[in-house]
Amino acid sequence: MANDDVKDKQVINHMPSSSFAKEVEQEFGGEGIMKCIQCGMCTASCMVASMTDRYRPRQLIQKILIGKREEVLTSDLPWLCMTCRLCEERCQEDVNLSEIFHAVREIATREGYVPKSFQNTVDKVLEDGWLLNDAYTDFIEDDRDDLGLDIDLDWNNEFVKRVKKRYIDGGKK
Ligand code: SF4
Ligand code: SF4
Repeated sequence: MANDDVKDKQVINHMPSSSFAKEVEQEFGGEGIMKCIQCGMCTASCMVASMTDRYRPRQLIQKILIGKREEVLTSDLPWLCMTCRLCEERCQEDVNLSEIFHAVREIATREGYVPKSFQNTVDKVLEDGWLLNDAYTDFIEDDRDDLGLDIDLDWNNEFVKRVKKRYIDGGKK
């Protein structure tokens, strides 16, 4: 009896039928989510998972499948995927995890759930034109000069301003 209960629970947990799973499936990139059989190969392959116990791609997929919408969207976990696709190489069900997590980020962003550290990164790029402005020292400039590389990197700023105007502020090129 107890074993049957456990089995039933597993079947329910792995049943891809939650409204959140269907929502993710409808989002661009999220199409493959229903194929996951929860084997765990992705977690065993993932270098982020090897660095922190917090990140478990199989578990994240499971949370989507069983409908933990708010927990997933308000978490930073979908943002930790580096899109290396190693898990996808090994997934025997051809689940496109990195794109599924991108799809989840799209939904989270629309609803205003962007983790602060990621928002800060975007703000920094929009402000300086690139992420490493504060780290760009005279030494680096000298090294670039020695290597014959461009030392005037203001074009970063110009480029970002144009991207911001066109895609973020909604203006024309
Ligand atoms: S390897 Fe594929 S099928 Fe297995 S748990 Fe990960 S996503 Fe699901
Ligand atoms: S694509 Fe994302 S989930 Fe897959 S192995 Fe790379 S970091 Fe991990």
